[in-house]
Amino acid sequence: CTSEAIPSGPLARRASRKVAVSHGARTVWVGGDAPVVVQSMTNTDTADAIGTAIQIKDLARAGSEIVRITVDTPAAAAAVPAIREQLDRMEVDVPLVGDFHYNGHLLLRDYPECAQALSKYRINPGNVGQGAKRDTQFAQMIEIAAKYDKPVRIGVNWGSLDQSLLARIMDENAARANPWSAQAVMYEALITSAIENAVRAEEVGLARDKIILSCKVSGVQDLIAVYRELARRCDYPLHLGLTEAGMGSKGIVASTAALSVLLQEGIGDTIRISLTPEPGGDRTREVVVGQEILQTMGLRKFTPMVIACPGCGRTTSTVFQELADNIQTFLREQMPEWKKTYPGVEAMNVAVMGCIVNGPGESKHANIGISLPGTGESPAAPVFVDGQKFATLRGERIVDEFQTIVLDYVKKNYGR
Ligand code: SF4
Repeated sequence: CTSEAIPSGPLARRASRKVAVSHGARTVWVGGDAPVVVQSMTNTDTADAIGTAIQIKDLARAGSEIVRITVDTPAAAAAVPAIREQLDRMEVDVPLVGDFHYNGHLLLRDYPECAQALSKYRINPGNVGQGAKRDTQFAQMIEIAAKYDKPVRIGVNWGSLDQSLLARIMDENAARANPWSAQAVMYEALITSAIENAVRAEEVGLARDKIILSCKVSGVQDLIAVYRELARRCDYPLHLGLTEAGMGSKGIVASTAALSVLLQEGIGDTIRISLTPEPGGDRTREVVVGQEILQTMGLRKFTPMVIACPGCGRTTSTVFQELADNIQTFLREQMPEWKKTYPGVEAMNVAVMGCIVNGPGESKHANIGISLPGTGESPAAPVFVDGQKFATLRGERIVDEFQTIVLDYVKKNYGR
């Protein structure tokens, strides 16, 4: 090979305006040079103020930097100030976004305390009404946003695309000498909807630095194609998310595949991982996945990273899996508190390895590493700290003793 190209990391971040999403003293910046923001959405009935406030608290504690709630009925709009109050009482200052469809113009008009309590509105331009009413109702919502100085995400979704706009784009396409494919027409309709409505919002009086755009679709290649073009055509910050990504590993893999391509190209200012929860499943999973995408790509650091080998026939017991799981959970649970007391701890790496093959090597590269005994090895587990052999653990209490070593390391190295 004669190439002298040096392997490089992500491409430069796309230039975009910076939008402030604020509640009280807390401002989360989206776009510009701000870190890519992780956000999520509740699935409680918003009219249940207590249940919704509890889920928002859990999402915020898991690391969601913005939380969206659906505001779909008068009861939901009436509950929003109470939700905000509950959160403030629990000292949860996460900014709230109201998700409006169909009746947002009425709810924002009739419930000014709701309009005020929210930190941002999400408006789906495909769901604001039909015909002449559409423009009026869209303008009503934008006027309220401008009045209360709230940013707006114009969130287009191909499941609810503005049908009159789609018809117009299809007519324009039919008049072309070489018509585009149906897929290209759909992409164009999504992008045009987002940009035209953003321009319209500015005409109505919303400042340019109050607008965020999204164009969500459910196919990985579609999302990449749409966002590349959207990013090229405007400088509004972009909210990324694969809509209806699905359940379990499929949802995680599809979201990761789509978002990592775009993020690597510098596209995307805030992300939401839309996972269908398993029955009784934990809503915070989508926050963890969002953080893990950004952290494994090296774009942000949230929680000390656990490097664990997959295990194989050389692992002799379940202690290995138990230890990896225990330490990952322990670190994640400590983070809300550690963020305040041990600044910088999120950059720490912990290796948990199943045997001597890669164990000591990987352990030495981490801040702390442990190599458990594999088949035919001595029943001892060497622990390395900052590349040096630190201790040897054995017996029943390996998991607890390793956790103590990690905790002591954190206190010593990250304490103020
Ligand atoms: Fe298997 Fe050992 Fe490699 Fe882990 S480090 S995958 S146990 S060979």
